[in-house]
Amino acid sequence: MRCGLMLITLLTFSVISCQKNSVTGRKQLLLLNETDVQKMALTEYRGFLKGNPVVAAGSTRDQIMVAQVGNRIARAVQTYLDGEGKGDLLKGYEWEFNLVNKPDINAWCMPGGKVVVYTGILPVTGNEQALAVVMGHEIAHAIARHGNERMSQGLLQQMGGIALGAAVSSKPAETRALFMGSYGITSNVFGILPFSRKHELEADRYGLIFAAMAGYDPGEAEAFWKRMAVAGGGKKPPEFLSTHPSDDTRIAKVREYAQEAMKYYRK
Ligand SMILES: [Zn+2]
Repeated sequence: MRCGLMLITLLTFSVISCQKNSVTGRKQLLLLNETDVQKMALTEYRGFLKGNPVVAAGSTRDQIMVAQVGNRIARAVQTYLDGEGKGDLLKGYEWEFNLVNKPDINAWCMPGGKVVVYTGILPVTGNEQALAVVMGHEIAHAIARHGNERMSQGLLQQMGGIALGAAVSSKPAETRALFMGSYGITSNVFGILPFSRKHELEADRYGLIFAAMAGYDPGEAEAFWKRMAVAGGGKKPPEFLSTHPSDDTRIAKVREYAQEAMKYYRK
Protein backbone atom coordinates (compact mmCIF):
# COMPACT_ATOMS: atom_id res chain seq x y z
CA MET A 1 0.00 0.00 0.00
CA ARG A 2 2.76 2.36 0.95
CA CYS A 3 4.32 1.89 -2.48
CA GLY A 4 1.06 2.69 -4.18
CA LEU A 5 0.66 5.86 -2.22
CA MET A 6 4.20 6.90 -2.95
CA LEU A 7 3.66 6.30 -6.63
CA ILE A 8 0.62 8.53 -6.77
CA THR A 9 2.79 11.33 -5.51
CA LEU A 10 5.51 10.50 -7.99
CA LEU A 11 3.22 10.33 -10.94
CA THR A 12 1.32 13.46 -10.06
CA PHE A 13 4.52 15.40 -10.44
CA SER A 14 5.99 13.44 -13.31
CA VAL A 15 6.00 14.61 -16.86
CA ILE A 16 6.00 11.85 -19.42
CA SER A 17 9.16 12.37 -21.34
CA CYS A 18 12.14 10.66 -22.84
CA GLN A 19 15.50 11.49 -21.39
CA LYS A 20 18.96 10.77 -22.59
CA ASN A 21 20.55 8.06 -20.46
CA SER A 22 23.65 9.55 -18.94
CA VAL A 23 25.64 6.32 -19.09
CA THR A 24 24.77 4.99 -22.50
CA GLY A 25 23.60 8.11 -24.33
CA ARG A 26 20.45 6.25 -25.44
CA LYS A 27 17.06 7.93 -25.05
CA GLN A 28 14.87 6.25 -22.47
CA LEU A 29 11.44 6.68 -20.93
CA LEU A 30 11.84 7.51 -17.23
CA LEU A 31 8.54 8.38 -15.56
CA LEU A 32 9.83 7.97 -12.05
CA ASN A 33 12.10 10.24 -10.13
CA GLU A 34 15.31 8.40 -9.20
CA THR A 35 15.26 9.54 -5.58
CA ASP A 36 11.75 8.14 -5.15
CA VAL A 37 12.69 4.93 -6.91
CA GLN A 38 15.57 4.51 -4.46
CA LYS A 39 13.20 5.05 -1.53
CA MET A 40 10.82 2.44 -2.87
CA ALA A 41 13.75 0.11 -3.48
CA LEU A 42 14.95 0.47 0.09
CA THR A 43 11.56 -0.61 1.45
CA GLU A 44 11.46 -3.68 -0.80
CA TYR A 45 15.07 -4.48 -0.06
CA ARG A 46 14.63 -4.41 3.71
CA GLY A 47 11.53 -6.57 3.40
CA PHE A 48 13.46 -9.04 1.26
CA LEU A 49 16.30 -9.29 3.78
CA LYS A 50 13.85 -9.91 6.60
CA GLY A 51 12.11 -12.69 4.74
CA ASN A 52 15.15 -14.51 3.37
CA PRO A 53 18.15 -16.35 4.83
CA VAL A 54 20.97 -13.82 4.57
CA VAL A 55 24.45 -15.30 5.09
CA ALA A 56 26.01 -13.40 8.02
CA ALA A 57 28.84 -10.99 7.15
CA GLY A 58 32.22 -12.69 7.40
CA SER A 59 30.74 -16.09 8.23
CA THR A 60 31.67 -17.93 5.02
CA ARG A 61 34.31 -17.61 2.32
CA ASP A 62 31.60 -17.11 -0.27
CA GLN A 63 30.04 -14.26 1.67
CA ILE A 64 33.43 -12.58 2.03
CA MET A 65 34.04 -13.03 -1.70
CA VAL A 66 30.68 -11.47 -2.62
CA ALA A 67 31.37 -8.46 -0.38
CA GLN A 68 34.88 -8.06 -1.75
CA VAL A 69 33.87 -8.28 -5.41
CA GLY A 70 31.03 -5.85 -4.74
CA ASN A 71 33.20 -3.29 -3.00
CA ARG A 72 35.83 -3.44 -5.72
CA ILE A 73 33.22 -2.97 -8.46
CA ALA A 74 31.57 -0.12 -6.54
CA ARG A 75 34.90 1.72 -6.41
CA ALA A 76 35.42 1.08 -10.12
CA VAL A 77 31.96 2.45 -10.94
CA GLN A 78 32.74 5.61 -8.98
CA THR A 79 36.07 6.00 -10.79
CA TYR A 80 34.49 5.38 -14.19
CA LEU A 81 31.63 7.83 -13.69
CA ASP A 82 33.87 10.50 -12.13
CA GLY A 83 36.15 10.17 -15.15
CA GLU A 84 33.19 10.78 -17.43
CA GLY A 85 31.99 13.74 -15.34
CA LYS A 86 28.88 11.74 -14.38
CA GLY A 87 29.55 11.08 -10.72
CA ASP A 88 26.13 12.52 -9.83
CA LEU A 89 24.52 9.35 -11.20
CA LEU A 90 25.58 7.75 -7.91
CA LYS A 91 23.66 10.26 -5.84
CA GLY A 92 21.89 8.45 -3.01
CA TYR A 93 23.90 5.25 -3.51
CA GLU A 94 24.85 3.45 -0.32
CA TRP A 95 26.24 0.14 -1.40
CA GLU A 96 25.38 -3.10 0.36
CA PHE A 97 26.30 -6.58 -0.80
CA ASN A 98 24.48 -9.64 0.48
CA LEU A 99 24.65 -13.35 -0.13
CA VAL A 100 21.38 -15.18 0.52
CA ASN A 101 21.16 -18.89 1.02
CA LYS A 102 18.75 -19.84 -1.77
CA PRO A 103 19.09 -22.34 -4.61
CA ASP A 104 17.91 -19.94 -7.34
CA ILE A 105 20.38 -19.05 -10.07
CA ASN A 106 19.88 -15.35 -9.52
CA ALA A 107 21.37 -12.00 -8.53
CA TRP A 108 20.12 -8.42 -8.66
CA CYS A 109 21.03 -4.84 -7.84
CA MET A 110 18.42 -2.30 -6.80
CA PRO A 111 18.72 1.42 -7.49
CA GLY A 112 20.63 2.91 -4.57
CA GLY A 113 23.21 0.10 -4.65
CA LYS A 114 21.54 -2.76 -2.79
CA VAL A 115 22.95 -5.97 -4.23
CA VAL A 116 21.86 -9.54 -3.56
CA VAL A 117 23.58 -12.68 -4.83
CA TYR A 118 21.90 -16.08 -4.38
CA THR A 119 24.08 -19.04 -3.35
CA GLY A 120 22.49 -20.98 -6.22
CA ILE A 121 24.44 -18.98 -8.79
CA LEU A 122 27.85 -19.73 -7.25
CA PRO A 123 28.23 -23.23 -8.74
CA VAL A 124 27.68 -21.63 -12.16
CA THR A 125 30.07 -18.71 -11.63
CA GLY A 126 32.62 -21.12 -10.16
CA ASN A 127 35.23 -18.44 -9.54
CA GLU A 128 35.64 -14.85 -8.41
CA GLN A 129 36.20 -13.49 -11.93
CA ALA A 130 32.86 -14.84 -13.17
CA LEU A 131 31.11 -13.62 -10.03
CA ALA A 132 32.46 -10.18 -10.94
CA VAL A 133 30.92 -10.57 -14.41
CA VAL A 134 27.51 -11.23 -12.82
CA MET A 135 27.75 -8.46 -10.23
CA GLY A 136 29.11 -5.97 -12.77
CA HIS A 137 26.19 -6.84 -15.04
CA GLU A 138 23.55 -6.37 -12.34
CA ILE A 139 25.13 -3.14 -11.11
CA ALA A 140 25.21 -1.82 -14.68
CA HIS A 141 21.43 -2.44 -14.96
CA ALA A 142 20.92 -0.21 -11.91
CA ILE A 143 23.33 2.55 -12.96
CA ALA A 144 21.78 2.67 -16.45
CA ARG A 145 18.34 2.96 -14.78
CA HIS A 146 16.90 -0.01 -16.62
CA GLY A 147 14.49 -0.82 -13.77
CA ASN A 148 13.05 2.68 -13.86
CA GLU A 149 12.68 2.42 -17.63
CA ARG A 150 11.03 -1.02 -17.45
CA MET A 151 8.70 0.13 -14.74
CA SER A 152 7.81 3.22 -16.75
CA GLN A 153 7.06 1.12 -19.82
CA GLY A 154 5.06 -1.28 -17.69
CA LEU A 155 3.02 1.52 -16.17
CA LEU A 156 2.16 2.82 -19.59
CA GLN A 157 1.30 -0.61 -20.99
CA GLN A 158 -0.69 -1.83 -18.06
CA MET A 159 -2.44 1.27 -16.99
CA GLY A 160 -2.28 3.10 -20.27
CA GLY A 161 -5.93 4.00 -20.78
CA ILE A 162 -6.45 5.42 -17.33
CA ALA A 163 -4.84 8.45 -15.75
CA LEU A 164 -1.66 7.02 -14.27
CA GLY A 165 -2.19 8.42 -10.81
CA ALA A 166 -5.70 7.02 -10.57
CA ALA A 167 -4.60 3.62 -11.82
CA VAL A 168 -1.80 3.41 -9.32
CA SER A 169 -3.96 4.43 -6.39
CA SER A 170 -6.54 1.82 -7.23
CA LYS A 171 -4.04 -0.94 -7.95
CA PRO A 172 -1.29 -0.85 -5.32
CA ALA A 173 -0.65 -4.60 -5.57
CA GLU A 174 -0.08 -4.43 -9.31
CA THR A 175 2.16 -1.40 -8.92
CA ARG A 176 4.29 -3.20 -6.37
CA ALA A 177 4.41 -6.24 -8.62
CA LEU A 178 5.63 -4.04 -11.44
CA PHE A 179 8.40 -2.74 -9.23
CA MET A 180 9.47 -6.24 -8.19
CA GLY A 181 9.43 -7.44 -11.78
CA SER A 182 11.34 -4.41 -12.97
CA TYR A 183 14.26 -5.20 -10.73
CA GLY A 184 14.52 -8.91 -11.37
CA ILE A 185 13.16 -9.91 -7.98
CA THR A 186 10.46 -11.92 -9.62
CA SER A 187 10.49 -12.98 -13.23
CA ASN A 188 8.35 -11.37 -15.89
CA VAL A 189 5.46 -10.03 -13.88
CA PHE A 190 2.30 -10.70 -15.90
CA GLY A 191 4.58 -11.57 -18.78
CA ILE A 192 4.89 -7.95 -19.77
CA LEU A 193 8.32 -7.05 -18.51
CA PRO A 194 11.00 -9.24 -20.02
CA PHE A 195 14.48 -7.78 -19.88
CA SER A 196 14.90 -6.41 -23.33
CA ARG A 197 17.85 -7.43 -25.43
CA LYS A 198 18.90 -3.78 -25.47
CA HIS A 199 19.09 -3.71 -21.68
CA GLU A 200 20.97 -6.99 -21.53
CA LEU A 201 23.57 -5.85 -24.01
CA GLU A 202 24.03 -2.52 -22.22
CA ALA A 203 24.45 -4.32 -18.90
CA ASP A 204 26.92 -6.74 -20.50
CA ARG A 205 28.95 -3.93 -21.99
CA TYR A 206 29.17 -1.60 -18.99
CA GLY A 207 29.28 -4.45 -16.48
CA LEU A 208 32.42 -5.78 -18.13
CA ILE A 209 34.04 -2.35 -18.12
CA PHE A 210 33.29 -2.01 -14.38
CA ALA A 211 34.54 -5.53 -13.62
CA ALA A 212 37.71 -4.94 -15.64
CA MET A 213 38.43 -1.68 -13.85
CA ALA A 214 37.92 -3.54 -10.57
CA GLY A 215 40.70 -5.94 -11.56
CA TYR A 216 38.69 -8.86 -12.95
CA ASP A 217 39.55 -10.41 -16.27
CA PRO A 218 36.78 -9.64 -18.79
CA GLY A 219 38.01 -12.64 -20.76
CA GLU A 220 36.09 -14.81 -18.25
CA ALA A 221 32.73 -13.49 -19.42
CA GLU A 222 32.29 -15.63 -22.51
CA ALA A 223 32.97 -18.89 -20.69
CA PHE A 224 30.63 -17.87 -17.89
CA TRP A 225 27.69 -17.09 -20.18
CA LYS A 226 28.28 -20.40 -21.95
CA ARG A 227 28.05 -22.16 -18.57
CA MET A 228 24.83 -20.26 -17.93
CA ALA A 229 23.43 -21.48 -21.24
CA VAL A 230 24.19 -25.08 -20.20
CA ALA A 231 22.71 -24.50 -16.74
CA GLY A 232 19.53 -23.49 -18.51
CA GLY A 233 19.49 -26.58 -20.70
CA GLY A 234 16.70 -28.28 -18.73
CA LYS A 235 13.02 -28.07 -19.51
CA LYS A 236 12.41 -24.96 -17.48
CA PRO A 237 15.29 -22.48 -17.47
CA PRO A 238 16.28 -20.98 -14.11
CA GLU A 239 14.72 -17.64 -13.36
CA PHE A 240 17.91 -15.69 -13.92
CA LEU A 241 18.36 -17.33 -17.30
CA SER A 242 14.82 -16.77 -18.47
CA THR A 243 15.45 -13.06 -18.17
CA HIS A 244 19.06 -13.29 -19.34
CA PRO A 245 19.01 -15.13 -22.65
CA SER A 246 22.38 -16.64 -23.51
CA ASP A 247 22.07 -17.29 -27.20
CA ASP A 248 24.90 -17.35 -29.72
CA THR A 249 24.35 -13.79 -30.86
CA ARG A 250 24.64 -12.52 -27.35
CA ILE A 251 27.74 -14.55 -26.63
CA ALA A 252 29.33 -13.10 -29.76
CA LYS A 253 28.51 -9.62 -28.44
CA VAL A 254 29.98 -10.48 -25.05
CA ARG A 255 33.21 -11.48 -26.81
CA GLU A 256 33.28 -8.07 -28.50
CA TYR A 257 32.57 -6.21 -25.24
CA ALA A 258 35.26 -8.21 -23.44
CA GLN A 259 37.80 -6.95 -25.96
CA GLU A 260 36.67 -3.39 -25.37
CA ALA A 261 36.79 -3.89 -21.59
CA MET A 262 40.38 -5.19 -21.79
CA LYS A 263 41.40 -1.56 -22.31
CA TYR A 264 40.13 -0.87 -18.80
CA TYR A 265 41.56 -4.02 -17.21
CA ARG A 266 43.67 -3.26 -14.15
CA LYS A 267 45.41 -6.43 -13.04
ZN1 LIG B 1 20.60 -8.62 -17.05
